[in-house]
Amino acid sequence: MIDYQRVLSEITAHCSSSDQKGMIASYIPELANVSIDKLAMHLIDSDKNTYAAGDATETFSIQSISKVLTLAQAFGILGSDIWKRVGVEPSGDPFNHLSLLEQENGIPRNPLINAGAIVVADILVSHLENPKQDFLNFVRTLTGDSNIHVDSAVARSEERTGFRNYATANLLKSFGNLQNDVATVLDFYFHQCAISMSCAQLTKAFYPFMNQGKCLKDRTHLTQTQTKRVNSIMLTCGFYDEAGEFAFEVGLPGKSGVGGGIVALLPGKYCVATWSPGLNAKGNSKLGMEALEKLTTKTGQSIF
Ligand code: GLU
Repeated sequence: MIDYQRVLSEITAHCSSSDQKGMIASYIPELANVSIDKLAMHLIDSDKNTYAAGDATETFSIQSISKVLTLAQAFGILGSDIWKRVGVEPSGDPFNHLSLLEQENGIPRNPLINAGAIVVADILVSHLENPKQDFLNFVRTLTGDSNIHVDSAVARSEERTGFRNYATANLLKSFGNLQNDVATVLDFYFHQCAISMSCAQLTKAFYPFMNQGKCLKDRTHLTQTQTKRVNSIMLTCGFYDEAGEFAFEVGLPGKSGVGGGIVALLPGKYCVATWSPGLNAKGNSKLGMEALEKLTTKTGQSIF
């Protein structure tokens, strides 16, 4: 039996002594208020045992990790029709890249880059009665935790500075791949990204993705098709233009956010989340990636 607690404690002790912690994202000004020294890991195994190290119950801005959850909800609503509006290929480009969208006539490469996530946000705005609240409720239900909230200061901060997202949404609209107003869709998008969660909450939210759709309370919230398709998109597209590197180093499907969080999972075995706000040059948490590489190397457990 693997002693996950010992492994997490060793990894966080090692990472916290690093003097190369990366850079905090400051293009959303509110994100810059977090201490670079924050570090957390949390793991839930398939027997529902939990293991924690560092600031595992402290909440942070999940940012692009939310894109997996909006995708799961929109895929649940539209089924395979969703792939008419967004592709499933890695982009090999930064998350907020625009030229590919222009070349490919407004069909984003995948739902985990910003353009794709904005199309998914548009789908949810069209189909949900109270889009922001209904999506938050979906996240709370998956997690089994009603104490999950949006940090409106972060949402407002991005609303003021998200110029590339306005450009992306306008380009999508010009190609006819946005049904609602740019402002309405981006308001939803900025709010989904501004959800605050801890590593402990993230492992619970993503537990159904590693457990064939069943949450910690054994209720089925996602179909097997939803988990299979969404996990494969996480593996190939979850880390901006570093998805290949993450698969190579870590060997798990996962998703990062510019708040410094990463969630990853080994189907049927465990779900793990890390948080360290310093990012590498590609926008992924520097120590988070290193911690997960150590986890799969030390335990000998990855999908490969
Ligand atoms: N809200 C951020 C943006 O759209 C999310 C970026 C990320 O976490 O990758 O720029």
